[in-house]
Amino acid sequence: MSAVSPPPEPVVRCEGLVHIYRSEGLEVVALQGLDLSVDEGEMIAIVGRSGSGKTTLMNVLAGLDWPSAGLARVAGWDLAQLDEGGRATYRTTVVGYVWQQAQASLTAELDAVKNVQLPMVAGRRPWAARRGEAVELLAAVGLGERLHSRPAQLSAGEQQRVALAVALANRPPVLLADEPTAQLDGATAHAILEDLRRMQRELGLTAVIVTHDPQVAHHVDRVVQIRDGRTSTETRWVADETGARADELVIMDRAGRLQVPPALLAATGLAGRVRVVRHGRGVLILPADSGPAVGGSPDAGAPDG
Ligand code: ADP
Ligand code: MG
Repeated sequence: MSAVSPPPEPVVRCEGLVHIYRSEGLEVVALQGLDLSVDEGEMIAIVGRSGSGKTTLMNVLAGLDWPSAGLARVAGWDLAQLDEGGRATYRTTVVGYVWQQAQASLTAELDAVKNVQLPMVAGRRPWAARRGEAVELLAAVGLGERLHSRPAQLSAGEQQRVALAVALANRPPVLLADEPTAQLDGATAHAILEDLRRMQRELGLTAVIVTHDPQVAHHVDRVVQIRDGRTSTETRWVADETGARADELVIMDRAGRLQVPPALLAATGLAGRVRVVRHGRGVLILPADSGPAVGGSPDAGAPDG
């Protein structure tokens, strides 16, 4: 048999994902045909202005909210097709979620070990293994000495570490975090991002982290920016002889739509009707009044082929 195996499916795959909030006759289209794919073992950061749709995307990926249209698949689960039972199993075993507020994942009356054991009930982890696994997870996030502290006895950073252990209690293949460092000071935020990265690597997780932290690019494989409910650009750090630099790409969807970065729009004054002409292997976007022959390339306007 010499069949070439197909490339593995990305663990997170969104195509044309739409999410509409409907309340009292009002409709908000929070995700407007979003495309995203994240490979197994990859960690990406999602950035974007407030209101751009980041939390909505995370809630759909977490199985807390439904796609209104389009495709959302995570670890082989089609999120538009889940019934109630499937949804509960998905949320318990496929994704771990870290919230902005650690308290959202913690029970105030329980110590750290019991907090981590709690989701194992719904996850049906073997009873005898639960305590050992919880201790192991807490040790892995650097809290081996704080097993019996209750949330109020822990610092904000330590609480977020317990929340991370809680999110990983049922060994999900996918880790989601929505602004997990927003409540923390700079140094603690940095340390938590490093913990997330280390756990993600050690456990081979696929991770999507929403953040405002401009430093996050150094902790992840790729930074994806969302604008108006769509993925607009993505940035990777590439190392070459001149050192490390950010390589930013604009994302074009299947229909050929893309978002021109605002700085370029402002600098060129491009708006409304524009002229799009072929230029070598690419295309140029020019003002409509530039005339059909302008383009500066012998390839401009040439037919395909
Ligand atoms: P971000 O996390 O990037 O700040 P959100 O996903 O929270 O953005 O919000 C995206 C858009 O959806 C915003 O316009 C917001 O006002 C709207 N929105 C969010 N949640 C709701 C809701 N429950 N009902 C109605 N509109 C909502
Ligand atoms: Mg948000």
